[in-house]
Amino acid sequence: MSEHQSPLSRARTRLQAHFGQQTAHQRRPQAEPIAPDLWQWVCTKTPLLSNLSSAEQDKLAEYAAAFIAERPFYHAQQMELTDQRIVFIAALACLPVLHLNLDWLAGIRSVVVYPDAFFGRQEYMDDAGIMHVLEDWRAGEAWENGTLVLSWADVIRADHPFGGQVIIHEIAHFIDGANGAENGFPPLGAHIDPRRWTTVFEQAFARLNAEVNSQQPLLIDPYAATSPAEFFAVLSETFFTEPERVVEFDRELFALLSAFYYPQQRAMHA
Ligand SMILES: [Zn+2]
Repeated sequence: MSEHQSPLSRARTRLQAHFGQQTAHQRRPQAEPIAPDLWQWVCTKTPLLSNLSSAEQDKLAEYAAAFIAERPFYHAQQMELTDQRIVFIAALACLPVLHLNLDWLAGIRSVVVYPDAFFGRQEYMDDAGIMHVLEDWRAGEAWENGTLVLSWADVIRADHPFGGQVIIHEIAHFIDGANGAENGFPPLGAHIDPRRWTTVFEQAFARLNAEVNSQQPLLIDPYAATSPAEFFAVLSETFFTEPERVVEFDRELFALLSAFYYPQQRAMHA
């Protein structure tokens, strides 16, 4: 694919149009390919990458290289950001859009990595107009200004009780917010009926809340019951990490997520 046709170059053009010269001169013109040895090593580090076909791994390597070239990575506290770690993060960040395109990640402007869970503070107003302050330890955050914040300890965590991957979770928030609001309703392709999406997601969200409230054994992380946005983010990470959980939880939901993340292969999953 020639440079001027690539999704990356379209994303770059759009970002430049959005943010003007400041963005243009901060960005490198061309992505350096990831060294083959380094890429092979990264692909052995998680089944999420080692289980991909070699064609998918090759495409993901291109996406990851572009992801790294297009935005700065910052370390927080004593985090040591090696090339291996940066490539690992970029690979998992691009995995959800591997069968979409890189435009979906254009809103991510920088990546900040902490060595471990970090303390976050969030103020929000509820429907009654009452202000709340939420302070807790976070594994990751997706900021509206385009900052992706991650805890490295959670990035490499392999013992998530419900299957999970914080990078995919946060990327799902960016995908969800691509049409202006994080509400569990991302921009859908023309092949997905938005009414069906809304109905299936609302029913499944209500059912998960009922299961959480009645303290039943759960297939899906109860954090998904927090809000429609968290529902989409958690379901997305489970879809990629332990898809059989999503199938068992709700086949229709699985079919919709398959159609969304794999638009060319939707006939296989329908
Ligand atoms: Zn979340």
